[in-house]
Amino acid sequence: MSRNSPLDLSPADFRRLGHRLVDDLAEFLTSLPSRPVSPGATPSDLRVRLGQRPLPEEGADPAVLLADATRLMLDHSVFNGHPRFMGYITSSAAPLGSLAELLAATVNPNCGSWGLSPMATLIEEQTVAWIGQLIGAPQGSGGLLVSGGNMANMVGFWAARTAKAPWDARQQGLDAPGASRLVAYCSTEAHTWIQKAADLSGLGTSAVRWIPVDGQRRMDVAALEQRIARDRADGVTPFLVVGTAGTVSTGAVDPLRALSALCKAEGFWFHVDGAYGAPAVVAPGVPDDLRAMSEADSIAVDPHKWLYAPLEAGCALVRDPSTLRGAFAYTPDYYHFDSGDAAPPPNYYEYGLQNSRGFRALKVWLALQQVGRRGYETMIGEDMRLSRVLFDLVAAHPELDAVTQGLSITTFRYVPPGVRREEPAADEVLNVLNSRILDRLQQSGRAYVSNAMIDGRFVLRSCIVNFRTSEPDLQELVNAVVEIGRGVHTST
Ligand SMILES: *Cc1c(COP(=O)(O)O)cnc(C)c1O
Repeated sequence: MSRNSPLDLSPADFRRLGHRLVDDLAEFLTSLPSRPVSPGATPSDLRVRLGQRPLPEEGADPAVLLADATRLMLDHSVFNGHPRFMGYITSSAAPLGSLAELLAATVNPNCGSWGLSPMATLIEEQTVAWIGQLIGAPQGSGGLLVSGGNMANMVGFWAARTAKAPWDARQQGLDAPGASRLVAYCSTEAHTWIQKAADLSGLGTSAVRWIPVDGQRRMDVAALEQRIARDRADGVTPFLVVGTAGTVSTGAVDPLRALSALCKAEGFWFHVDGAYGAPAVVAPGVPDDLRAMSEADSIAVDPHKWLYAPLEAGCALVRDPSTLRGAFAYTPDYYHFDSGDAAPPPNYYEYGLQNSRGFRALKVWLALQQVGRRGYETMIGEDMRLSRVLFDLVAAHPELDAVTQGLSITTFRYVPPGVRREEPAADEVLNVLNSRILDRLQQSGRAYVSNAMIDGRFVLRSCIVNFRTSEPDLQELVNAVVEIGRGVHTST
């Protein structure tokens, strides 16, 4: 007699519920372009809709629950798969990725060790190798999939700390006898992950040296050199330089070649934060510095950004895979995962922070094969072309100022007729106006952008990592911003 557990579904019910869900989702994908991008509801509205009740004591019908959850999600979400979603750096998700998640969750391999995920581990190994080949990482690079860009960058940071500290930082910590202070360098445009990494690795955020940027918002290499010289004179130990391949605000690419040469000459670890921009290297007309990723010691890439994977998927790549084991591996005696193979597959729990791990690689591995390098070249190239088209549309409009354009990010702001930009007080007025416009736009559901602060100016920021966006969507964005801008301006 087999056990009858309340959580189990009969295969027949699984099939029935699954078919219903897939039908609903196919319908959703059909209707997506005609839906509002965002629900425009307040958290209080949504709490009411969700219902506030204590943990249920007894179970309920899974078909009803799933239908309810489907309605909650489809009626009250911000749809980053919508053609007019251009906010933050959150891409449209490849539909094949949804099905991959279903497959991965149903087989449920534990990708912490090879023994518990024989095929899944090998697929992850191949996925990491393919991502490395796609973006031009050093030959022989390895790594692993993590939850996103933050984690991928932190993996690089910890690998650098262990490899470059002149003492055993893993065992002795940061105050070993004779230890000096470790410091890391990045530009003022670097992403906030580095604060978390410096904090949580015990270095403290004051170990981050924020180097100023040039007129194109790229790290100023001369300023970097000066700061390194000053730090050396002060007796602290530089160990890491982080170059960003596509900054989050404006899509700037740091002078990665110069940074790489400097790191090589000085013996520093060279990490590239390519969470956003690394995949752009496949497209024509991008900054040549992206090709200097081939010289990095470690690279963070975010498949859930410009490889269009559903959340979550980040990828940490290192030139020398043994540096990850060097930074993370412990081998407790309750693990016995010897494959006995001439080419033993990795046990990924030794390569990063996680122990039990899901099968994030499958959706990325399938996408890489569904479209190949050529597909990414086409989609990423088109995202960048659309970003330039948007810049031109904005530049041509008398009530809009085009501010920056880099990779697929365009920044701009609304300037009402009669406002004199060059007057000292203008920015203050325009900042308030544009932040209100952003709020109203996001509530309207007509299009979705986010913001950046550029030299004290609050600007609207469109980032197209969206294979569903096309030119009419850009025109609709411009129309919406101008109409909302006029409304906000005349009501204040
Ligand atoms: C998005 C981003 C990150 C953080 O990645 P998550 O996937 O959001 O964790 C880090 N650096 C850059 C440059 C990014 O664009």
